[in-house]
Amino acid sequence: MDHIQCQDAAIAVLQSALSYDRTHHAYIFHGPAGVGKCTTALAFTKVLLCHEAQRGLTGRISACDTCASCRLWHGIADAADATRSAHPDLHLIRKELAGESIIKVLRDRKQTNIPVDLLREHMIGGTTGDGRYHEPIVGKTPALRHNKVFIIDEAELLDAPGQNALLKTLEEPPAGTYIMLVTASEDQLLPTIRSRCQRVTFGPLSEEVIAHWLDESAKVPAGSQRDWVVHFAGGSLGRAQLAVQYDLFDWAQAVVPALSGMASRQFDAALGSDIASRIDAFAQQWVKAHPNASKDAANRRGAELMWVLITQHARAELARAAGQHATLAAAQLEQRLKPWLAVIDAVHEAQAMLRSHLNMGMVCDHLCLAMNQAMAGRERVNA
Ligand SMILES: [Zn+2]
Repeated sequence: MDHIQCQDAAIAVLQSALSYDRTHHAYIFHGPAGVGKCTTALAFTKVLLCHEAQRGLTGRISACDTCASCRLWHGIADAADATRSAHPDLHLIRKELAGESIIKVLRDRKQTNIPVDLLREHMIGGTTGDGRYHEPIVGKTPALRHNKVFIIDEAELLDAPGQNALLKTLEEPPAGTYIMLVTASEDQLLPTIRSRCQRVTFGPLSEEVIAHWLDESAKVPAGSQRDWVVHFAGGSLGRAQLAVQYDLFDWAQAVVPALSGMASRQFDAALGSDIASRIDAFAQQWVKAHPNASKDAANRRGAELMWVLITQHARAELARAAGQHATLAAAQLEQRLKPWLAVIDAVHEAQAMLRSHLNMGMVCDHLCLAMNQAMAGRERVNA
């Protein structure tokens, strides 16, 4: 667990449990996307499955790297490796697993969630929609006669029947069985699930960690693009990776000046369709890179990145205005801040419209009109 950066609080909780032999049977690892939750779950799992885990030089309990379990662990660094791994007591459940299901309906469908049948096939057992009965893997003795671990990545994607079906197992898992739910949206888990698990909180990564990754791995040269990615990432390495891979700096260069233009009455009527087509291009590229991913989910992912970009700009403008007009009376200051607050509200409205499955072009047009209206309000305040 020594290789995990910037998550000292989370590591301390897990290390303390290991030290005092007080590990919980079920955990929720929650925090922003792309900060190392699943990587930590895997590192913790390696220790739990190791037959000879011991305290290392750093004072932390570590896996021995030589026992039968550790030898099988070789080559597992991330969730994608873990999915392909041959370790019989590591069970990683994620929506992509549906692509290899023995149930044809699951195999063929778009991977938008983790359906209960996938959970039945790979963990809790029972009869699936195709009438097939599955032995509960969770009830079996660990293959290496030690522990076994189930990690559910993006656990918020478990459908309602899946969450309900999991309750009994979370209540009384068989001895030597650990369950880790990894999620960036803990609020989408049932309260009854949350109350049965110990929570481990993950925070955003530091700017230094993101900048180091940009230097060493992404090889993004120092300059405005690199600075922008560090800011845009907001402590999420996952978001930084998307920003580089999909060239979101190009989005910023088009959208941010357009937002500034609105403030001086230069409304670009084509902005809505420009934003929509950028999101569409993102989604097409995403689906190409992730066969079986749903275009709808990719659209939502792209839109979320666009909403982050716009909201971050509005927040920066709010901070700037608050600094500039610090001496104004509260009511006047509020008038100055109102337009940017309205921009943030407009983004929330766009999010809600997308959730109601409205057409992307329409949502983006509506958003731009609402933002422009907010800016017109600012003009009146400044006049
Ligand atoms: Zn070992």
